[in-house]
Amino acid sequence: MKRKERLSESAYIQGVLSGDRVVLSRAITLVESTLPADQELAEAVVSGILSHTGNSIRIGITGVPGVGKSTFIETFGKIVVDKGLKLAVLAIDPSSQKTGGSILGDKTRMETLAADKRAYIRPSPTGSTLGGVSARTREAMLLCEAAGFDVIFIETVGVGQSEIAVRGMVDFFLLLMLAGAGDELQGIKKGIIEICDALVINKADGDNLPMAKRAQREYANALHLFPIRESGWLPKVKICSAVEKTGLVEIWEMISEYRDLTKANGFYDANRAEQRGNWMHEHIGYLLKNQFYQDSLIQEKLKKNLPAVKSGALSAIAIAKELVELFMEGKAKK
Ligand code: GDP
Repeated sequence: MKRKERLSESAYIQGVLSGDRVVLSRAITLVESTLPADQELAEAVVSGILSHTGNSIRIGITGVPGVGKSTFIETFGKIVVDKGLKLAVLAIDPSSQKTGGSILGDKTRMETLAADKRAYIRPSPTGSTLGGVSARTREAMLLCEAAGFDVIFIETVGVGQSEIAVRGMVDFFLLLMLAGAGDELQGIKKGIIEICDALVINKADGDNLPMAKRAQREYANALHLFPIRESGWLPKVKICSAVEKTGLVEIWEMISEYRDLTKANGFYDANRAEQRGNWMHEHIGYLLKNQFYQDSLIQEKLKKNLPAVKSGALSAIAIAKELVELFMEGKAKK
């Protein structure tokens, strides 16, 4: 990848802080870059805006493809902006790493919201590793906050590892579901339910409405069996129709209720503090790993030993240990 023309550190910072969307987009592109020179600049820019972050409510939205995420974000987002709040939507699409294409890249998604000046939509940075995805997404989120957005949606597809990563950077986590599709079909694991603050059954309209209501009761009963959360919040089950625009105001009210409760009991701030601590630990891991794999001696040794590790002739853990020790020795000598 060729290094694109970059702005100066202060131009990025000033531009983002003044809410300039063009500069914001360019700053997000900068944090997505894997070039070492860009990463250095990105780090300086993110550090420069950090004291202006933290003022939005961060909401994770997930659910399998077809559940209605983009339709929901479009209509629910409209409710948010109509309240006079500025909304940024970051969408993480892990599929684009594998296929080069993107199921979220589809231009017709969220057309109305995309055209709305009060909203900003950005397919989130993808990276080659999950750690990369979460680091880049967090930085993009912080840039949006510094640019003055009041509400951030982080959308993920599918229910798996990236949801856990997103849980680690948001205040409220919402799982969109369908009634009657069966948990397995929806890829719902018990672990995901445990990290959700709300289950929202979408497409509660037409013939589907009675089934949605029944599913709501069933899930609500099931949730009672989970232990009380540290947040003091009992996860709620809601029904809505993103198409008919019903049940959406109630969802916003629920999120507001969550914020009021957790701000009052201290969980909101404690959670954010915990997240910042984890961010540092994640970043340490990320930096160490990067340095390790960029080390030419390590690269050479890896190349030599990998086939034997794969065939089982050499022990994976023994080689891993040897390589790490070699790396540390090399560092100590420098
Ligand atoms: P995504 O893949 O999760 O982003 O789902 P989409 O938003 O693209 O929606 C998938 C399909 O479900 C589309 O055909 C939508 O029109 C439809 N859909 C989304 N929300 C609703 C809803 O509330 N009710 C009904 N009946 N259909 C919906």
